[in-house]
Amino acid sequence: MERDAKIFVAGHRGLVGSAIERNLISRGFRRIVTRTRSQLDLRDGHAVAEFFRQERFDYVFLAAAKVGGIAANRDSPGEFIRDNLCIQTNVVDAAYRTLVKRLLFLGSSCIYPKLAPQPLKEEYLLTGELEPTNEAYAIAKIAGIKMCQAYNRQFGTSFLSAMPTNLYGPHDNFDPHTSHVLPALIRKMHEAKEQSSPFVEVWGSGRPRREFLHADDLADACVHLMESYPEDDIVNIGMGEDLTIRELAELVKAVVGYSGELRFNPDMPDGTPRKLLDCSRMERLGWRAKISLRDGLAGTYRWFLENIAAKS
Ligand code: GDP
Repeated sequence: MERDAKIFVAGHRGLVGSAIERNLISRGFRRIVTRTRSQLDLRDGHAVAEFFRQERFDYVFLAAAKVGGIAANRDSPGEFIRDNLCIQTNVVDAAYRTLVKRLLFLGSSCIYPKLAPQPLKEEYLLTGELEPTNEAYAIAKIAGIKMCQAYNRQFGTSFLSAMPTNLYGPHDNFDPHTSHVLPALIRKMHEAKEQSSPFVEVWGSGRPRREFLHADDLADACVHLMESYPEDDIVNIGMGEDLTIRELAELVKAVVGYSGELRFNPDMPDGTPRKLLDCSRMERLGWRAKISLRDGLAGTYRWFLENIAAKS
């Protein structure tokens, strides 16, 4: 990518988009365009088509999506499938019609079959049943990946897809009902510490295993792919190691400095038992994650204290 290329980062207020914007700025890119949701509703096809016609981007990072944790996915599957299908269909098609040189679509590790062998390789896509708690979201993301591949085949576009594992970092959603597990635990432990509560509720059995990648590592990988991946395939991006939800809860406890008890609630869903990504494709490109979970957690807790706790 030329340093004066015109780049649209869709979803720049979110966990992933904000990290991609920071990464591009740090690498010296000068023409980064962003729009807030109130300025441009990406679910509105006419508005998106017009915006792309006027702006004429060279590159697009499609990090805008409706995302949420296991409870949000269980409770609002219709919104997850509708909003994501609309956003990605509008942006991918507008990118093709306005001759965008390259687009990177963000998928998710939940697109892989629930009981696929671990670690998950890219070729396991569509080889088995999905995890039911996030099926609607996963189907939308699979459609996005397949749309990029179909456009590449029919129209000769260069649209690639990155499959990140569970992500965390600054600008995440810390709402206890709709967030993912890591920000939810940060918030719950912080509030329990402040209020001297004797225990914190952790959903499910604590036995599922998850892999966590800092959003700054993901952003670095995405820009690296956009600049140097010679193909237009899908690429997994992860840390290479996972831990149980119980171990994660213990780590968050230590970072936050909470000394109470963990109480597991078996009435809440566990979700998929494990989703560890095989990242050998990314490693062959010379890229590896750099931020350890402990350091990333400490930084995310600092961000939470300064930006969420201080204002609530
Ligand atoms: P998933 O990776 O798509 O399953 O999404 P989540 O990050 O929401 O959940 C991961 C795992 O953490 C599941 O087994 C949840 O039951 C468990 N978990 C434990 N406590 C919490 C919590 O407070 N919030 C969320 N979202 N998940 C939790």
